[in-house]
Amino acid sequence: MDLSALNLELAALSTEEVVRKLYALDPAGTVLACSASIEDTVLLHMLAEAAKSAGRKPRAFVLDTGRLPEETYQVLEDCRQKYHFEFEMVFPESQDVEKLLRAKGPFSFYESIENRKECCHIRKVLPLKRALSGATLWITGMRREQSVTRADVPFVELDQAHGGILKANPLALWTEKMVYDYASAHNVPVHPLHRRGFPSIGCEPCTRAIQPGEDFRAGRWWWENADQKECGLHVKS
Ligand code: SF4
Repeated sequence: MDLSALNLELAALSTEEVVRKLYALDPAGTVLACSASIEDTVLLHMLAEAAKSAGRKPRAFVLDTGRLPEETYQVLEDCRQKYHFEFEMVFPESQDVEKLLRAKGPFSFYESIENRKECCHIRKVLPLKRALSGATLWITGMRREQSVTRADVPFVELDQAHGGILKANPLALWTEKMVYDYASAHNVPVHPLHRRGFPSIGCEPCTRAIQPGEDFRAGRWWWENADQKECGLHVKS
């Protein structure tokens, strides 16, 4: 597949058309990674519309790390009822979590970057590999303006870390205002923590509200440097 040509072609389409076109490549193999953030629920809305046109239900998985905030489950339930489908809930391997907690306790991620990455690896990275097995395309809600680590995300890329499948970021060029306007216009479920100063949604102990003027992802792993704030899910190829 000529990715440059595909990226050029997608750049001329509306975002709904991008999602529809990508979905049509392989409906059964297309899956949305959903954290319940507003970007992901907006994309779920678009994906559900694309799937409905094809007489199917959307596929979306949630990495349930075991440390998600309660509000996230409510958003997932709201989406489940609105779009009449079931999320694929993906959990970490219980023996890995048991071993980690026995050795280092429940808050080891605050102690060092290595410990934080170890926890993310067990609770997110390894489950993501399972979530993507059999998929040919995964969709994420990453936007360029979110952080320095996301400043150059393309519409579509090859994800070599997951077997060379396609990874799509249809909202790459969207601003925060565009996301909220779309959610409002289409009655998309919005995570309540966004209204309480959490622009980025993650695990409860590793996410805090940000202050006006702070970076979008300043509330994620706030004790680390901005250029290290990825959990290993989005590895550059
Ligand atoms: S975000 Fe925090 S709690 Fe969640 S997996 Fe990473 S280190 Fe663990």
